[in-house]
Amino acid sequence: MTHPEQPEQSQDLMNKIVSLCKRRGFIFQSSEIYGGLKSAYDYGPLGVELKRNISNEWWRSVVIERDDVVGIDASIMMHPKVWEASGHLAGFSDPLVDCLNCKERFRADKAPKKAPGTPIEYVQGGKAGGAKLKGEVSKAGYVCPVCGASNLSSERQFNLMFKTNLGPVDPLTEGARELYGKGLSFEEFRAKLEEHIRSSAVYLRPETAQAMFVQFLNVQQSMSMKIPFGIAQMGKSFRNEIVTEHFIFRSCEFEQMEMEFFIEPGTQTTWLPHWRDARLNWYKKYANTPASFRVRQHDKAELAHYSDDTYDIEYLFPWGWDELEGIASRTSYDLIQHSKHAGVKLTYFDQQKNDPETGKPGWRYTPYVVEPAAGLTRSVLMILCDAYREESGVDHEGGQKTRVLLKLHPRLAPYKAAILPLVKKDGQPEKASEIALEFRKAGINISYDMQQSIGKRYAKHDEIGTPYCLTIDNQTLSDNTVTIRNRDTCEQIRIPISEAINTIKQRLE
Ligand code: ATP
Repeated sequence: MTHPEQPEQSQDLMNKIVSLCKRRGFIFQSSEIYGGLKSAYDYGPLGVELKRNISNEWWRSVVIERDDVVGIDASIMMHPKVWEASGHLAGFSDPLVDCLNCKERFRADKAPKKAPGTPIEYVQGGKAGGAKLKGEVSKAGYVCPVCGASNLSSERQFNLMFKTNLGPVDPLTEGARELYGKGLSFEEFRAKLEEHIRSSAVYLRPETAQAMFVQFLNVQQSMSMKIPFGIAQMGKSFRNEIVTEHFIFRSCEFEQMEMEFFIEPGTQTTWLPHWRDARLNWYKKYANTPASFRVRQHDKAELAHYSDDTYDIEYLFPWGWDELEGIASRTSYDLIQHSKHAGVKLTYFDQQKNDPETGKPGWRYTPYVVEPAAGLTRSVLMILCDAYREESGVDHEGGQKTRVLLKLHPRLAPYKAAILPLVKKDGQPEKASEIALEFRKAGINISYDMQQSIGKRYAKHDEIGTPYCLTIDNQTLSDNTVTIRNRDTCEQIRIPISEAINTIKQRLE
């Protein structure tokens, strides 16, 4: 299936994926029975398997298959000084703008760019039937992404970190009690209350990366790691995003898979391309359409202040190319910042090397870092977009029918096989559950399914991406063979039951 170029087609494809996710138990709207919480999602029985399979594959390739990377699982709340040192408290913000015409709130850096002075037309209030107005693009050089107007508020920086408080005291009540009745102006009252709350504030981490810098010494020393080496972590991150969009693509609570690779200064020119290529190939290995991935190098203006070079791995989502993962050369910025703020030297001593400045044996330096930072929940959406297929065919009465399938890589598929008795009698369910038990004992996640007609069960397993269906019929009872049906080709062959587990195992490799 080619990617739709029309916005309606792209929306249509997204609607189909969102609907399949709900219908088949992949992803539900959070708190749906209460009307839902905007941009929060729950992973259902099949979604949790898919997500876990993706993260297991990432962990396998980044940690288990390498001897130079180890993992950690850090707490979500960290000392508030971490975020002061990393620069998140002062600078982790997006430029927020209000449209004075339609009242939409949006990010200035993501708004449609237009040259200042360009004539524009928009509808008053942004509502159908409103008067048509004319204007021109202001000096800001962009327009409202919803109504196209340039009648916009000035930009203000909005910090994306979620703030909360540790301990049993409510700092808002405490602060208000202390300040109440002191004759302060509104501005003074607000500023003092803010200061009071900040003194006990902690933050939900907006990225998993900082724990790897903060625990650099503990990990390096306890595991006797030699540079170059990496520390990996996956887990939840939280960002109070101004605009959440495209289902699970951008949400306020999401999961990341990040790795900090500590290297000798100067070697980033080798390690950055290494990790860029390794990560790009990892995605391509699990996808049906390798051409839907590309690498984009940041230009000078886009580079974060701490980075000397960065690449994004982008995927051709239904709405266009968008970021999946960033691979950044972060220099020694983070370790130096934490060294300064914590008063602890986060350095490495290489006994084998001479100090380049003095020429004497032994070199102590602050390592440089290359960071591949991927989104797990965003990867779930990418995998669903890549796998979704509609194939037209003919049903048993000769009518047109559409087969919907998720062409998932077998290692990512929630179920590796479905065990299906053809009918609910003649000893077939008993035989099928015996086979199902053998699969479970072998650690292979299967679905034992005897509801509905066999055709409907095949259709259901195509839709949830089960790569193989094993059908138990009358012949099974006489000769111990089953049919194995391939999801992608619909071909069926007979194999002995004794070979079933190995056949599926081999295909998973
Ligand atoms: P974007 O430009 O899309 O806001 P970013 O450059 O801020 O992303 P990073 O800080 O580099 O993202 O985070 C690394 C990865 O984490 C991203 O490539 C993305 O896959 C994922 N990610 C970041 N923010 C979100 C979010 N709000 N929802 C889901 N995934 C996210």
